[in-house]
Amino acid sequence: MKPTVVVGLEVHVQLLTRTKIFCGCVNRFNPDAPNTQTCPVCLGLPGALPVMNEEAFRLSLMTAMALNCELARFTKWDRKQYYYPDLPKAYQISQYDLPFSHDGWLDVSTDDCGSRKIRINRAHLEEDAGKNTHDESGRGGDSQVDLNRCGTPLLEIVSEPDIRSAAEAKAYLEELHLLLTYIGVSDCNMQEGSLRCDANVNLHIEQDDGETIATPIVEVKNLNSFRGVEAAITYEAERQQKEFAETGRKLGDPGVEKETRGWSAERNVTFAQRGKEEASDYRYFPDPDLMPVTVSDEQITAIRESLCEFPAARRSRFEQDYGLSNYDASVIINQGEEFADYFESVAQGCGDGKQAANWVTQNVQRELNERQLEIDAFPVCTEVLSSLLKRIVDGELTVKGAREVFDELLTGHDAGTPASVDRITSIIDEKGLAVSTDTGEMDAVIDAAMAAHEKAVEDIRGGKLQAAGPLVGAVMKQLMGADPKTVRQRIIDRVKGT
Ligand code: ZN
Ligand code: MN
Repeated sequence: MKPTVVVGLEVHVQLLTRTKIFCGCVNRFNPDAPNTQTCPVCLGLPGALPVMNEEAFRLSLMTAMALNCELARFTKWDRKQYYYPDLPKAYQISQYDLPFSHDGWLDVSTDDCGSRKIRINRAHLEEDAGKNTHDESGRGGDSQVDLNRCGTPLLEIVSEPDIRSAAEAKAYLEELHLLLTYIGVSDCNMQEGSLRCDANVNLHIEQDDGETIATPIVEVKNLNSFRGVEAAITYEAERQQKEFAETGRKLGDPGVEKETRGWSAERNVTFAQRGKEEASDYRYFPDPDLMPVTVSDEQITAIRESLCEFPAARRSRFEQDYGLSNYDASVIINQGEEFADYFESVAQGCGDGKQAANWVTQNVQRELNERQLEIDAFPVCTEVLSSLLKRIVDGELTVKGAREVFDELLTGHDAGTPASVDRITSIIDEKGLAVSTDTGEMDAVIDAAMAAHEKAVEDIRGGKLQAAGPLVGAVMKQLMGADPKTVRQRIIDRVKGT
């Protein structure tokens, strides 16, 4: 029996506010000028008093709503005491027993497990600490402290241990990343540490007698990439299985505590760190310098009305309204809100969602990559692309012909001629790409081709329809814009009719 991997994730997200959470210092990632974005409040100097940033609280409420959380109407701030050089106050302002939100969920889907609801235990708001840099050369260099990050608004989102594989943990984090960037509460830049993740991992192992035992819980700290989360959990699951086979130690045994481990991306292993403090070690108590926060129904309604359509809802709407596969809908949604808007406008304009999806995920996406452009700077606007695709839908242009027009629009743009609907018409005329609707002309060309390919005609008559290939080729050469499927059918009809 393969053990079940049980994972809960704690995610820390920096909020995109202009200033820090309890002071007026600018909230900006700036490691090149350390200790330049500080003031008495975020330096923890005696007598300095914090004031809550309303915008940070508003962004937090938005996030909690997007995560289907219950919102507390009364919430307060607590001091979490610990000493570390990057925390000059020697306590972090956080939320302990009355977080501003709790009990939500996020839908996550993977190939193996399908779509599942991962429950969210709570989301609370706190301040970030500064950053320590240690000399790791082993030559006894200095450690340095940069307090620019001190007081950055940080949202902590804690899931229940509902995640059942490394792949599902990665998918949860990707979905969360997408949601947070979509509603604009964070840039979620993982290289800069805007989104960081701790994973609580253990195994449930079924014994021969049918009883299930659990291995001790390990918390892997500070994972800062999707791949890292997946790799660390995969590694940890194998390590715990091996350790259990060797020692038989399980959760609940005397002396077994939660273990904290680090992750080395270079060596692809987790490694032992200090033992985890119990909650009581932090000696939480309510912060006497900050007022509790109350939230009214009016505030909640106003924020709810300001929210955009969430990615998960938009993805299923794309599947329903435009007949897209889950895969295509995901590809489009994952490119961000502007890209999804672009798709939707083209789909509506041309009246064919699948055609629009093919074009934006292939032709448009490829050009964006090559040109290193965002969608809002793409030279072919939605009006022009939908006009082009409408001609395919209406049978006036083949897909191949439309591709030629598309390339020509871009070439023209590069040479200074803007892509426009009129430009489409002139390219079609210049290149003779219009699908011929004159069957008389087509029939004449087909007859000439039949005369030149007697053997093929015999074969088709005998039922070998694949023999039509060379005939289609010959006719297409003459009729540039013709639709190959129509030509092929017309050839077969004419051969059989004679
Ligand atoms: Zn400050
Ligand atoms: Mn935290």
